[in-house]
Amino acid sequence: MPDETLKSLRSLVPPLRVKPGATVRLPHDFDPANTAKFRDREHAQAALAVGVDLLRDLQPKLAAQERFGLVVILQGMDAAGKDSTIQHVMSGLNPQGVTVHSFKVPSAEELLHDYLWRYARELPSRGMIGIYNRSHYEEVLVVRVHPEYLGPQHLPPSGDGDVWHQRFNEINSWERYLVDNGIEVLKLFLNVSKEEQRRRFLERLDNPDKTWKFTLADVRERRFWDDYQQAYAEMLSHTSTEYAPWHVIPADHKWFARLAAAASVLDALERLRPRYPRRVSIPKAELQRARAELEAE
Ligand code: ATP
Ligand code: MG
Repeated sequence: MPDETLKSLRSLVPPLRVKPGATVRLPHDFDPANTAKFRDREHAQAALAVGVDLLRDLQPKLAAQERFGLVVILQGMDAAGKDSTIQHVMSGLNPQGVTVHSFKVPSAEELLHDYLWRYARELPSRGMIGIYNRSHYEEVLVVRVHPEYLGPQHLPPSGDGDVWHQRFNEINSWERYLVDNGIEVLKLFLNVSKEEQRRRFLERLDNPDKTWKFTLADVRERRFWDDYQQAYAEMLSHTSTEYAPWHVIPADHKWFARLAAAASVLDALERLRPRYPRRVSIPKAELQRARAELEAE
């Protein structure tokens, strides 16, 4: 049965991918309320439980093999559900093999470095899974919506080129380098609708247990909704590549977003075909001697 579920989970993933070279229009091209063939929360939760078990089985093989690392990039508007997605996908993983990093407004020290520096520092090593809650893509999203953030970046005088296209190229090259060197890059955009974001913000205001999550900055950034949609569409159009495609995760139903994110991680790990290494470094005769010694005790 898990084999069938694995297939059905993996089949969720290709329709989420942004075809390299495609011109994406948001919100037209992707429906945030899509739930594929899943009717309801219960149906999705059962599949998620199997998916999480499958992840639990794959991760130690990735770790033992020490050949590939996986960086999972999560982008989305405020209240798109990045945190809860991480929580659910992580629930199946051994914490010793995972790192999670949230990228916030850069510090003075970070601003004194090239813009990819702080993202490169947090990359997972071989055998590890690294989760990025926001990522180097903020450099073509929030910074693009607020170009005044370029000011403090200590950049050299720019030539004629457009800084955003320059960054798309640099990011594509960097990811190419990572994938060529065994660090897989899985990119997930949690696509929430404007109406659903409004509903979630209001819920945070109405529910005293959730009000702590609310910030005035959230409402301020929401005023730039259309600019963000435009920046996201450009990002998806220019940085979805054969080696590191974007996946647009419909995020209006959290239960489906979690399932789709888990399925994407599962699919990425399956493609790496992690296996326990078969030891060849210890000669057979020595292994037999070790066995004899232990058995003789
Ligand atoms: P949550 O609100 O769910 O706790 P968050 O990721 O929104 O999580 P916040 O502390 O609210 O975390 O916000 C972090 C802010 O930092 C975001 O608004 C993001 O756009 C901003 N940020 C991230 N990277 C950069 C960057 N390179 N330059 C400027 N701002 C950035
Ligand atoms: Mg926030």
